[in-house]
Amino acid sequence: MIGVYGGTFDPVHYGHLRTALEVQEQLNLEAMLMLPAREPPHREAPQASPGARRDMLALALQGQDRLVLDERELARPGPSYMVDTLESLRAEHGERPLGLVLGEDAFAGLDGWHQWQRLPELAHLLVMTRPGGVRPTGEAARLLAERGVADPARLHGRPAGLVYQCEVTSLAISATAIRTQQAAGRSSRYLLPEAVLDYLVEHRLYC
Ligand code: ATP
Repeated sequence: MIGVYGGTFDPVHYGHLRTALEVQEQLNLEAMLMLPAREPPHREAPQASPGARRDMLALALQGQDRLVLDERELARPGPSYMVDTLESLRAEHGERPLGLVLGEDAFAGLDGWHQWQRLPELAHLLVMTRPGGVRPTGEAARLLAERGVADPARLHGRPAGLVYQCEVTSLAISATAIRTQQAAGRSSRYLLPEAVLDYLVEHRLYC
């Protein structure tokens, strides 16, 4: 199974990196793709440019090979719809299982995503615990009730369609908090890789 970890990464932080690694290990994924969105459609525009967000992610991923930067959303003009991303991955990988990785907060809002009903047709949904995470209601709760599985082995037996909840280390780190700290002239050290912090300070991305 290939993991698909999309995000704004404005900036990437240890909440993304540690959870991506844990899901990759827990589910024995062949690879975990990290995909920065060029234009996230269901939220306000990122503060840093697509190029800067890509550079920060590349710095964060240096020296390891389990988490892989995938630039397909950056290369695609217009809003970065996850359904388009999963379709292009499906075309590349045939019947190999795909796992779309989402924090609980993102999963709770899934029914606001473009053509969201198609997402579970194209991939499994791997929902990670997140501090302050919202309990799914409405469509997300229904997806969980209808498609939820407790045994991760089942994910490997079909290409898409199941929902699995992954327990990951609770890291109450958010990009919003880091941007707020930077704007207020406070330190963000130890919340994200030092190379990423140096980059965003040097380029005055969030001042
Ligand atoms: P922002 O604060 O700008 O909303 P964010 O920190 O939530 O950003 P995103 O790039 O929007 O980061 O998140 C991408 C994905 O990573 C989402 O599915 C989100 O739920 C998940 N995620 C981000 N931070 C954490 C964390 N600390 N623990 C678990 N999941 C996380």
